[in-house]
Order: sequence, then C-alpha cells, then structure tokens
Amino acid sequence: MNCTRCEGTGFLNLFQINPDVYGQDVCDCSDIDAVLEWIKTHDDHDIQVCDCCGDGEGWHGTPGEHYTSEDPIGRNGPYAYNGGLCECN
Ligand SMILES: [Zn+2]
Repeated sequence: MNCTRCEGTGFLNLFQINPDVYGQDVCDCSDIDAVLEWIKTHDDHDIQVCDCCGDGEGWHGTPGEHYTSEDPIGRNGPYAYNGGLCECN
C-alpha cells in the first residue's frame, strides 16, 4: 500500500532538491542513500523522512509504503497511537 502523504517516495518535500543540480536519481528517490546523504549535507530545506510511513528519522517498513507485513491495526503496531490507522488514510 503506497503512502499518499509522501507519494510513495518515503520523503516529504522532496521537490526542494533541484533535479538539474543533483540528478533525477536523487529527486525521484530511486537512490534512497543519496537522498539521506543529501539531507545530511544540506541545512536550508524541509526535506525529511516521511512521518507517515516512517517516523521522521527512519521507516516502519519499506520507504513509501505502509507497514503492512505485520498487523498494523494491532495495539503494538506503528500506528497504535492513531488507533492503528495510517495518517494519510
Ligand atoms: Zn510516506
């Protein structure tokens, strides 16, 4: 299940990376390590790990996809604080 909040990229505000400067791999997030590295080495932006399919620092499962391999509804799931529901649904 794709995350609609980050449009499946796993990151928020990814548009702030200029594809002409950094290349399409970074901008469409096909190279996650490159994006993480970019975030680490730049300060003036709001790009961050999605706080819906992740927690702002890392992902619950696959970046850009909701964590569904285990029961996400359960009391111990990553969305338990939200009644077990992904925030973008
Ligand atoms: Zn997301």
